[in-house]
Amino acid sequence: MARALITGGAGFLGSHLCELFLDRGNEVICMDNLITGSPANIRHLIGRNGFTFVKYDVTNYIHCEGSLDYVLHFASPASPIDYLEKPIQTLKVGSLGTHKTLGVAKDKKARYLLASTSEVYGDPLVHPQKEDYWGNVNPVGPRGVYDEAKRFAEAMTMAYHRFHGVDTRIVRIFNTYGERMRINDGRVVPAFISQALRDEPMTVFGDGSQTRSFCYVSDLVEGIYRLLMSNETLPVNIGNPNEMTVLQFAQEIKRLTGTKAPIEFRSLPEDDPKIRRPDITKAKKLLGWEPKVPLEVGLKRTIDYFQRVLL
Ligand code: NAD
Ligand code: UDP
Repeated sequence: MARALITGGAGFLGSHLCELFLDRGNEVICMDNLITGSPANIRHLIGRNGFTFVKYDVTNYIHCEGSLDYVLHFASPASPIDYLEKPIQTLKVGSLGTHKTLGVAKDKKARYLLASTSEVYGDPLVHPQKEDYWGNVNPVGPRGVYDEAKRFAEAMTMAYHRFHGVDTRIVRIFNTYGERMRINDGRVVPAFISQALRDEPMTVFGDGSQTRSFCYVSDLVEGIYRLLMSNETLPVNIGNPNEMTVLQFAQEIKRLTGTKAPIEFRSLPEDDPKIRRPDITKAKKLLGWEPKVPLEVGLKRTIDYFQRVLL
């Protein structure tokens, strides 16, 4: 049995990863301080053979008993509202948290995977975004705390790889959605779905012409697992290239929920990227991976989930 330490394991993506690793016969230590995650996300895993939860802030020295085969660093506030409300924690978990988790991987001779993000490309001037694009990030804008922390985390990961020989992977995750997103985390998927289900105005920021490309969570975690098992040490984009405007996305949620909610336009947050779509040529070639779940199918499952949460 291999053993994996998954930081941020009580969050949205982390909880799905914990499940996938258990399903594939691994032991999982889920480490999370619950600042944006929730015990509800892992309630179904508590008591399951091989699963341990440790409440801990990974910006501090991490002590982990026994051997480890994998360290996956997913801890970080991830929604624009969360990282605007928690700017210092975001910077700390991306920098100190990455340093501490890399230290554990080095000590245990474990393979390390960093959860990076499409935000390292900032408000991109190249479209779609390929891994060799260096990005267009405003370091002193409100999103800088997240974007720069992740860029630092990538640099730190490559330094541990090159200098200490740690076996590392970097995944650049594009907008992902699905069950166990927090209903009020401010991201567009929970925002639009909860507004639609309550027949409240759906808040489209700006004129809604900015684009995003949404990946369903089961596709994402499969891509991440394959990357971990591959030999690629440079960053790999994982996401769904099905790009649409935010306004089109709102209309799709309206159609799928049958809501009477009107669409209301609000001001566009500062530095909100105007376009985003992953170029996944590298993941396709290297990992034999591409997303399989159509938007309508993934959204229906997510809407069902939020319906149950709202009851
Ligand atoms: P999330 O907020 O649901 O999960 C993050 C988890 O990290 C939470 O459970 C939180 O409590 C925990 N955490 C934060 N700081 C911590 C600390 N100092 N110590 C221990 N635990 C801490 O967010 P998510 O969407 O699941 O994102 C998970 C990871 O994936 C993040 O690193 C994020 O940057 C990355 N990512 C996510 C997306 C996406 O679309 N969901 C896109 C790009 C990158
Ligand atoms: N957005 C919106 N209404 C909302 C929340 C978000 O129009 O209630 C827009 C936001 O401005 C951005 C896109 O939806 O252009 C995706 O936002 P999200 O917060 O999900 O993540 P981002 O991709 O910006 O990190």
